[in-house]
Formats: sequence, structure tokens, C-alpha cells
Amino acid sequence: MLQPSEIERVLVVMAHPDDVDFSAAGTVAVLSDAGVEVVYCLVTDGQAGGFDHTIPRTEMSAIRRDEQTKAAAEVGVTSLHFLGHMDGSVVVDMQLRHDISRVIRLVRPQVVIAQSPIRNLDSTYGSHPDHLAAAEATMCAVYPDARNPFAFVGQPCGDLEDWAVDEVWISNGPDAKGVIDITATVDRKLRALLCHASQHRDPEGLEKRMRAWWSSAAESNGLPAGSSCEVFRVVDTR
Ligand SMILES: [Zn+2]
Repeated sequence: MLQPSEIERVLVVMAHPDDVDFSAAGTVAVLSDAGVEVVYCLVTDGQAGGFDHTIPRTEMSAIRRDEQTKAAAEVGVTSLHFLGHMDGSVVVDMQLRHDISRVIRLVRPQVVIAQSPIRNLDSTYGSHPDHLAAAEATMCAVYPDARNPFAFVGQPCGDLEDWAVDEVWISNGPDAKGVIDITATVDRKLRALLCHASQHRDPEGLEKRMRAWWSSAAESNGLPAGSSCEVFRVVDTR
């Protein structure tokens, strides 16, 4: 697993606004604090999320982009790419692979943080079909698309120089052994998560559940009592 001192830029690719704040925002804050430039790529606008029937669906994209932008600022991220695909309808196709490859070539990251392309039968919510599709398209974009100079000729991505990503960190991926201690950043991660106000019926309950989850992850990974962590399956893509 590359150390922050070995990384200049990280690109986080997630299906929905708020996914990164549940899964990897503590790590994002650790990286930002170490001087790494972190950029977000959101595949959808989360148009199908939330619970409040009084919010017109036509307004949801703008609300969720705004929430994600505020959440990003909490953990040191000011550059966000919204691909605008439809929430609930993400499929792995050449358009999505193109769109993610284009952002990879723009950002030129050493590390991409992504969701898992493999369904976890113990995590129904974590295995939302959009997560699986966004993650699979991201893996395809990392190899071979973004590094293949002959991919996407004549399309916007084809005008950019090819780029090879060194590692993909799959958040909560199978056999995840890449542990990042987020004890120092967990409060900022929580503030970021709470920026997604349109998604939380019970913010206090959420805080309790999340803190318990992050600290139990730390305990099962051998960190001292009172710690929090995030875990990743590190895939060497060199
Ligand atoms: Zn999601």
C-alpha cells in the first residue's frame, strides 16, 4: 500500500453523493492533511435518494451536489467531477468507462479509491447495483482504458494523454487488509456525513451507529481501544 508521502494525487470514484463519506472520508482527510491532492468523481447525482416527498425530484440533483461539495470541503477536497448519470440506473457500458477514464486522465492519480465491484452477500445496502456497476467501470477504466492510448479515439477522453494508475484501494473490499487509522479525522468525517441532510432522518442515531462501526473496525484490526479506522483491499494495478 503506497504511503501518503509517495502519493501526489488521489481520485475517489463513487456512485452516489454520500458514499465516500460513509466509506472513505476519514482516509481522504488523512491524505489531505499529508499534502495529497484528493479529487472526487461522482457518477450520479443521487437523484433517487432521500425520504422527503415534498422535495421536487427535479431539485434533488442540485441539492445533492451542494451537499457533497460541502462535505468534501470538510475533509480538504475542493475539486469534484459530477458525471450526471442517473441514480438507480448505472450500468457498465462504454459511455461510463469513457467518462471515468476521462477524469482519470485529467487528474492523473497514483491511487484511485473505489467501491467494490463484487457483491457482498452480507451487505445489501453496500452492494447497491449502482455501486457494483460504478466500481466495475472504474476497474475497466484503470485497466485497460485510461492507459491505452488507442482507447476512445475521437471522443473527449481520446484528446487527453493516457495515464496508468498504480493502485486501487477498494473500500471495504473482500479480504481488506489496508488499514488506515482515522482516529484523528473521524470528527471531520462525521461532519462531512452530516452535510448530506436530505438523506438522514435521524442524524443522532446515525452518529451513534457510525462511531460504533468505525471503532469496531479498529478493534478487529488490532488498533488501540478508542481508535477508528477504514479498511481497503489494495489492488496493485501497475
Ligand atoms: Zn450509494
